[in-house]
Amino acid sequence: MRVLAVSDKVVPFIYSPQVRQRFDDVDLVISCGDLPVNYLEYIIDALDVPLVYVRGNHDESNSYYPDKPDAGPRGGLDLHGTSVMVKGELMAGIQGCLWYRPGLYQYTQREMWLQALRLVPGLLLNRIRYGRYLDVLVTHAPSWGLHDLPDLPHQGLKAFRWLVMTFQPAYHLHGHVHVYSPQTVTHSELGTTQVINVYGFRQILTTDIAGQPRTAKNQHLS
Ligand SMILES: [Zn+2]
Repeated sequence: MRVLAVSDKVVPFIYSPQVRQRFDDVDLVISCGDLPVNYLEYIIDALDVPLVYVRGNHDESNSYYPDKPDAGPRGGLDLHGTSVMVKGELMAGIQGCLWYRPGLYQYTQREMWLQALRLVPGLLLNRIRYGRYLDVLVTHAPSWGLHDLPDLPHQGLKAFRWLVMTFQPAYHLHGHVHVYSPQTVTHSELGTTQVINVYGFRQILTTDIAGQPRTAKNQHLS
């Protein structure tokens, strides 16, 4: 499956008719948050593909519908707190980041542990039904100690690291940590999981057939 993942930054050429030529073979769009809903709606309308997403800490002000601040992008599936099968891939998500100021979509480490633990029954059920726990974990914030930063808003979540180490999805996609230098590490492995900071956009090709054991051989295109 070909995935276009987006996060944190509106990319001008994606928010233009060029998106059709550049991404005409994409099967699914994944948003890791902090993006205006009109941007996400533009992409999926142009490509005519489904969208799954989680919200970031800035999505309180990114709503396209001022009278409905909780409304997500039209046609998108909110992954927060759920585990679902999308186009043959088992996906789960957790929105937000570490709490650092009053506002929505921020949680303490303890609250994020609760969010992570709430996913566990669904992941165990996946294992029984499909022979694997999870293919893609989508979060806004990074895991503790991987692509995160020392300042409070950008510290990673211990619960995410535990989720990845325990259930070893093929991918953990996140955003939240902005990338300003080509030297910044945005692609790592945690066990057999490919961990990618999506900031801006990433194209990902998941080569394994759903239902087969996952390996770390999935190709990462950009
Ligand atoms: Zn953020």
